[in-house]
Amino acid sequence: MTVIQTIIRPEVLAMSSYAVQDAAGMVKLDAMENPFGLPPELAAELGRRLAAVALNRYPAPRPQALLDKLREVMHVPSGCEILLGNGSDELISMIATACAKPGAAILAPVPGFVMYQMSTVLANLEFIGVPLSAELQLDMPAMLAAIATQRPAVIYLAYPNNPTGALFEVAAMEQIIAAAPNALVVIDEAYQPFAERSWMPRAAEFPNLVVMRTVSKLGLAGIRLGYLAGRPEWIAEFDKVRPPYNINVLTQAAAEFLLDQVAVLDAQAAQLRAEREQLAQALAVLPGVTVFPSAANFLLVRFPDAGKIFEALLAARILVKNVSKMHVLLTNCLRLTVGASHENAQLLAALRAALA
Ligand SMILES: *Cc1c(COP(=O)(O)O)cnc(C)c1O
Repeated sequence: MTVIQTIIRPEVLAMSSYAVQDAAGMVKLDAMENPFGLPPELAAELGRRLAAVALNRYPAPRPQALLDKLREVMHVPSGCEILLGNGSDELISMIATACAKPGAAILAPVPGFVMYQMSTVLANLEFIGVPLSAELQLDMPAMLAAIATQRPAVIYLAYPNNPTGALFEVAAMEQIIAAAPNALVVIDEAYQPFAERSWMPRAAEFPNLVVMRTVSKLGLAGIRLGYLAGRPEWIAEFDKVRPPYNINVLTQAAAEFLLDQVAVLDAQAAQLRAEREQLAQALAVLPGVTVFPSAANFLLVRFPDAGKIFEALLAARILVKNVSKMHVLLTNCLRLTVGASHENAQLLAALRAALA
């Protein structure tokens, strides 16, 4: 064994770094990014705001103006506090760190967002992945049995779920919240701009619920800003494990400015919802193709041979996500981010050719 192998934890030695494929020159439909960018006049004004930021100073640890603006614009209910993360990825890590008692477990339906499991493993906790039903909905008998027997500390429910795209049934989620009074249920609403449904109005209703959001899928993936809303008792504990200056000054200034302009981003989201419906309909009539219902800015699609289709798209310079090996429920599935109209047209043309 080398020194490195003796020092580094075996779980880390066994991992690979989070892989992001090089997308230079490609139609990028793999990462649920908003394709539009800011209108030029907004970008110019943003530039002026950012130029005025004092880069020599540390950021405010709890930037009150930004917190107030988020509360107002995102309709965070009274009775809730807000915690900011460097992306919701960081919030997920903070939750795992704060709950990392020996023997504790974190539960999530699978297939689900990979960071739930990764943060669990890195915090030395046990991950309980409960498979979804064949319809990609919550398998309630299995969920309730896992909660009763394995007593997880934290339960993640993504609403809608990634990579499946579906919203879980509200009644089933309520049943899970009621069945787990000794756990924290985290509802992850990363795709809320495309779902038009939200648990946010209920974020203070239950003693064991918090709601997590991000501005990434709304069109600001580059600034890395996530937020967690919930009862002050929970937020105060997670705040203790937050790296002191986790939200940098440029992100704070950009978010404060752009939250005033959220109507621009909301209109882009509405456009993507319309594109999603058109793309889903066009895909559904292709031979041998199954499109799953989606409330997100991506579509999970099953093909006769996903590997072959993925390669054909790559050859056509279109990058999507091949999720077919992630879980048996995703066999032969690709996850296609909904892009701008001309990108979706390119995707459809390449798919028609590949399936012919
Ligand atoms: C993309 C995504 C996130 C991560 O968001 P960031 O704020 O960019 O870290 C969280 N949860 C789900 C389900 C996602 O798909």
